[in-house]
Amino acid sequence: MDISPAPGSLPNPLSLNQIGNQATPGLDGPNPQILTPAANDSLPANLAGANLPFTPSLEPSPLAGNHPVGGLVDVLFNQGKLSQTQYDEIKVEVASSNRQAEDIIKEKEWVAEDDLAEAKAQYLNVPFKKLSDLTVSPEALNLVPQPVASRYQLIPFSVDKKNNTLSVGMVNPLDLKAIDFVEKKTGLRLIPHLVTASDLTIALEEIYTRSLTTEVTEVLKESGELERRTIDVSQLGEVIREAPIAKIVETLLTFALKSRASDIHIEPQEDRTRVRYRIDGILHEKLVLPKRVHEALISRIKILSRMKIDERRLPQDGRFSFRAGEEVDLRISSLPTVHGEKIVMRLLKKSAKVPQLPDLGLRGRALKNLEDAILVPHGIILITGPTGSGKTTTLYSILSKISTPRVNIITLEDPVEYEIPGVNQVQINPQAGLTFASGLRSFLRQDPNIIMVGEIRDRETTDLAIQASLTGHLVFSTLHTNSASGALPRLLDMQAEPFLLASSMTAVVAQRVARRICEHCREEYTPPPEVVQDIKKVLGSLYDAWLKSRPPSTPPSLHRGKGCTECSDTGYSGRIAIFEVMPVSEKIGRLILERSPAGVIEKMALEEGMILMKQDGYLKVLEGITSIEEVLRVAEV
Ligand SMILES: [Zn+2]
Repeated sequence: MDISPAPGSLPNPLSLNQIGNQATPGLDGPNPQILTPAANDSLPANLAGANLPFTPSLEPSPLAGNHPVGGLVDVLFNQGKLSQTQYDEIKVEVASSNRQAEDIIKEKEWVAEDDLAEAKAQYLNVPFKKLSDLTVSPEALNLVPQPVASRYQLIPFSVDKKNNTLSVGMVNPLDLKAIDFVEKKTGLRLIPHLVTASDLTIALEEIYTRSLTTEVTEVLKESGELERRTIDVSQLGEVIREAPIAKIVETLLTFALKSRASDIHIEPQEDRTRVRYRIDGILHEKLVLPKRVHEALISRIKILSRMKIDERRLPQDGRFSFRAGEEVDLRISSLPTVHGEKIVMRLLKKSAKVPQLPDLGLRGRALKNLEDAILVPHGIILITGPTGSGKTTTLYSILSKISTPRVNIITLEDPVEYEIPGVNQVQINPQAGLTFASGLRSFLRQDPNIIMVGEIRDRETTDLAIQASLTGHLVFSTLHTNSASGALPRLLDMQAEPFLLASSMTAVVAQRVARRICEHCREEYTPPPEVVQDIKKVLGSLYDAWLKSRPPSTPPSLHRGKGCTECSDTGYSGRIAIFEVMPVSEKIGRLILERSPAGVIEKMALEEGMILMKQDGYLKVLEGITSIEEVLRVAEV
């Protein structure tokens, strides 16, 4: 992989004011994160200790009374996870076969693996950890080599040097032999957490072999010297060019690409540095680094992106590109926080292909209405939604659809995220005076047919967009409103003239992006009646139409992702947008003239056949594309 700094970027000579700001590395070791301090604190005793607060048998004694207190079967029964019949059946089998209750429950598959493990954890009085909640620190991993972890079936995930403890996930937290061995080897007291067998298998396979954590752990090991050495200011320049820090930056970028991340966040906290990736729109904590590498890591990234490394009190922007199989542009921004500088890197893939409108999730009447609107040679089409709702991607899809050698398309963007062949794309630069408004003004002298302005956020841009549309241009832009109908009152609030607005608007699209259910672990389930009621209420006649498309007398079922290795146990992979497309009809134009509120406009649009964003989402839920939780998460903003 090449990391090429932007042209002209040379490391700044170190200045004196770095001395004062220089962190004092080498004082103490890092203080790795404690994931569940409360649970750890309340743990009655070290399980390896002599006084176990429970008996190491997981089954209630067959000789005990009907409901022996604290038995695994009883815990499950009391939680409502087992019915009375199932409870009785297990009792009988335990008594007659001498088998463990846990094995019988597993064999009968009456209880989900997670529920069973959670009940077992409660019964054993140890904390329960799911793989998705597990952040493994490289240092913890470093303490227990993979063969040992595999042999003793445990995954180390966090070290607490102050209290001399190591937290581990185990399928059998009562395995005293394993606990004893690892305690002797590490010299730390073990705090066992219960994990499911399938989570442990994934953890041992993935976290130990070629994960971000392992790679960085390796680098940190190589940089053992760096760990111990007190970094002198005169050496800082050398340290940040040194292999380990450069390697960590490379590794972070390579893994971000591999895991389809759109952004990398490097965040200093009081005692550690947290690295999170945004994947499918959601942040995931991927790595915890010792605080001592923070300064050097940030400086390395600042040098690559041409920022001033000695400026730590003001936010800065920069960019660089790197190649790992494909070329990626990175937009970097830094922000001073109380614990140090935070860096966010946005990855913009050069080869990223612009998706077609149907790939985004547009279909049926909404797709047809939008396609009709973009064929009109003039007018304004707006895409609305909050930040991160996929507006820009939709605009790119539209532009690539209408880009032909016969039309002149100019865009004003912040930032240019994809490059579209044949389109003149301009990056705004407010510091140099190139804003959306000033750019738009000069555009009109460039004889364009189609103009895309990244965002309408003030009166000046609104007026220019209207003027452009009325002089025969097709104008696309975005606006921050929650619904399609809300865009029109918002533009009137920005002092748009109602008559001109009504004559220039062609269509408004509102959208959000939801995660797709992972296809590798999608499962069907029967939703609770109140969820079905909610779906019926939101969809109205659309629900009846959907019911008719199904074989009669099948109960309504929904889908969800169970979580698997393909989706890093999240149950989701990839994204799908949900839309409402509102053509500005004659009747809606009249409502603009009357300065009608959004509610009145929306009612008219519904009468004219618009499907609301939430309805579109619910239809995608019924089809098993996304989950009801996702639609509620994104649509109710
Ligand atoms: Zn999956």
